[in-house]
Formats: sequence, structure tokens, C-alpha cells
Amino acid sequence: MTDRPIRFRFAPSPTGMFHVGSARSALFNWILAKQLHGKFVLRIEDTDTERNRPEWTQGIIEAMAWLGMSADDPVFEGPVFQSHNVDAHVAAAEQLATRGVAYFCDCTRDALVARTGDQNKGYDGFCRDRGLEPGPGRALRFRVPEGTTIVRDLVRGDVSFDHAHIEDFVVLRGNGSPLFLLANVVDDIAQRISHVIRGEEHFPNTPKQQLLWEALGAEPPVWAHIPVLVNEARKKLSKRRDKVALEQYREEGFVMPAMRNYLMTLGWAPAGDEEIVPWERILAEFRLEDVVPSPAFFDLKKLASFNGDYLRAMSSSEFALAARPWVDAWLAEHPTARFDEGVFAAMVPLVQTRVVVLGDVPALVDFLFLPAPEIDPDAWAKAMKDSAAAILTDTEAAYRSCEWHAETLKSALEEISERHGLKLGKTQAPIRVAVTGRTVGPPLFEALELLGRDETLSRLQAASTRLAG
Ligand code: GLU
Repeated sequence: MTDRPIRFRFAPSPTGMFHVGSARSALFNWILAKQLHGKFVLRIEDTDTERNRPEWTQGIIEAMAWLGMSADDPVFEGPVFQSHNVDAHVAAAEQLATRGVAYFCDCTRDALVARTGDQNKGYDGFCRDRGLEPGPGRALRFRVPEGTTIVRDLVRGDVSFDHAHIEDFVVLRGNGSPLFLLANVVDDIAQRISHVIRGEEHFPNTPKQQLLWEALGAEPPVWAHIPVLVNEARKKLSKRRDKVALEQYREEGFVMPAMRNYLMTLGWAPAGDEEIVPWERILAEFRLEDVVPSPAFFDLKKLASFNGDYLRAMSSSEFALAARPWVDAWLAEHPTARFDEGVFAAMVPLVQTRVVVLGDVPALVDFLFLPAPEIDPDAWAKAMKDSAAAILTDTEAAYRSCEWHAETLKSALEEISERHGLKLGKTQAPIRVAVTGRTVGPPLFEALELLGRDETLSRLQAASTRLAG
């Protein structure tokens, strides 16, 4: 491996939204390419034409750029497309056939089952020495020699595979099309890849691929198979069952540094007790040797807490800027809303500590910009009972003349609470629902101060009228 250039690659198949597990594989490769001053090749494995769509490729490139792995970076090479290299895949297969390292085979599945009497048995080598010429319907099989293959994996250690358990596997189908296993190796060799770091699900294929590397006269790469991601039930994350698309998290308002930091803790952890650490530290400290092979729990609660922490660490103006796309999307859906930059800026410190994702922001500020609050019927039913009517009337009277400051608004309501023999929390509820439409929200008195006296009074009045009617 001495003078081999350091070249990593990330080789997604564009068959769906960009999976968080793929994002993590990409990040691991990216960081190592940076650390070792190598290259990061993006190879789109698009040979499965039935399942590929160009928009998925675009999605992968965009999501990678969002995570900081941009095509502008000098470390980045590509994208290269596997489908552009099919001739080389076929040529490599032909070379193996010519050298007798692979042989043609016309066995059908049924014939094999008839011979072995076992549905699940691998290929029995029937055509090994039949000397069949290529022809329609004839697959090309790799002749697995006797012996053992040792896969040196930086995460899993040295793992030995006895060839007795590896069947003569197909590299070209009967219709002449190359199999993934071969295409993947031929591309890695062509792109002079030195390190293959990928998901654990590819580990069982690795001895076969290593045999192909050797048969094609190339020195196998450094392998590392990183642990599978599992959900709360310890089941492998699946797109049918779990939220796996990076884009979806992004749309909900997870911020990039939080997502990126969190993904890096799946199978690895920075030294010390803190997992939320600056990117520079991750870049400097990440080592494949420290990645643990056991499954990594994709913990949504932990991700949420990472995001909350990152949001709180922003300055108010950063937060305001970051939240704007979500506020703007909300505004676009509410043509009667009147946005006020100053009010929003003043509101930011009140919401920044209360949200998990940026998508939570509009629901905390909407009442400030709507001509009337959108009253949630459940909130109304819960808050507008018992002494609610009296509290609304008393508050309206007190708020007509008191000084318009959060503290005075609070002490006025405290007085009313005492008069009614209620806790402040109880008296706040009808006021909050009348003004914001919800039972939960930002700190009430600061919110009222921002909303202003006239608007507050008119909302209290409207609620009283509705309650009386
Ligand atoms: N295209 C394969 C996948 O998306 C990756 C294969 C590899 O990394 O070697 O799972």
C-alpha cells in the first residue's frame, strides 16, 4: 500500500431519497479523505435502470452539499456514473473467461435444485470443467479456488472466509449484463480506490470482491464496514418503517451542524464525555479504528436534543435568519398575515429556547402576525370553562389602563388570580387561548407586550363575546 494514492469513494445507488445511513458513510469517507490529503470520489451506481431515477441522483448531490461535502471542494472528484463504464465491466469479465478464472454455465435454477435436492444450496460447480463457449442464456461464473480469504477490515479486524462456503458466483448474467459485484470492483480498480468504507450489509460480499480484485491483478483496498443503523426496536432502519430520508429531517428544520455532528456519533464518539463537539475536532479526531462494529441506534430523541442545543447556541440574528424559510413558508400560506421584522426579532429570544426544530417556529409566533388568532377548538374547550368569563372581563379591565410591560401585565393578572382564589397558571390559560389560540406557547406576558395593548384588548373582547354567545 506504500506509494498508492489515497482515494476514498462513496458509491450510492440512486434508488430513493438520501438515507441517513448513506449520509454517514459519505461523511466517514469525506473526513478520512480530508485527514489523509486524499480524494473523495462520488460514484453513482446507476446500473439498475429499473430502480434509478435522475432526481434521486440530484437529491444525493444536493444533500451531500448541504452536509458540507460540496463538489467545489478540492477533495471531491466526480460524480462518475457506473453506467458509463459497462464496457469495462464486460471486458473484465471476458478477461476472466479467457484466462479460465471464470467459466460459462447454462444450469437453470431448477436443474441445480434437481441435482442437489436443496432449494437453498449454492451452485455445485457442475459446469466448471465442461468448457462451454459463451452463448445466449449462459452466465459467467467465477471459479472460486480452494483456500481461504482473509478480509482485513479496519472495523471488524481480520475475518477469515473458507472458500468451501463460497459458491462459484455469477459475474455476467445469461443476457450478458454484468452483476453489481463485478461492476463495483471494476470501477473501484479503474478509479484507483485505496479504501472501501461502506455499510455492514456489504460485508458478506467482501471475500468474493477481494477474490475479484486479486483475479484482476489489483491489490485489494483497505476495507472498513461500518455498523448498521437500527431503530428503537433494534431493527435495521428501513424506508418503509422509519424516517430515513435526510431531506425530511432538513425540511423539518434540523440544522446541518446538528445533523452532521449527530451522524458522526453513530458508531463512533469523540474522546471525553461530550458528544456535541465542533466540527474541527471531529475532523481531527475521527479514526476508523475507533468505530465499533455493533449496531448503532438512530435515536430520534438524541437527534432532537442535539438540534435543540445547536439552535440555542446560535446568536439571535443567526437563529432569526435560519428560521426565516419556515416563517416565509407559513406566510405564503396565510395571505392575511402581516409580518413585522422588528416584532419577529424581538420574539426570537422567547422562541429560540423552546423549539426542537426550526419548523416549530411559526406556531409560536403566528398569533403576532394574524389579524385574529386561529383558535384551536381543543384548546378553547380546555381553557374556556369555570371562571374563564370573569377572568377575561377582569383582565380586559385591568389591561385597559395598566402600564404596558411584561412585569406589570403579570402582576395585574396575579392580583386577579388572588381575587379568584386561583393559581396564576389557571388564569393564564383563558388569556393565552384568547390571544394566541393555543394552550402552549411563548412566555405569555412578554408575548402580550409585543402584541400591544389594542390588539390584546380586542382579542380578549372577542373571546368574551364568543363565550357569552
Ligand atoms: N451502491 C452500493 C449501495 O448503495 C454501495 C456499494 C459499495 O459501497 O461498495 O449500497
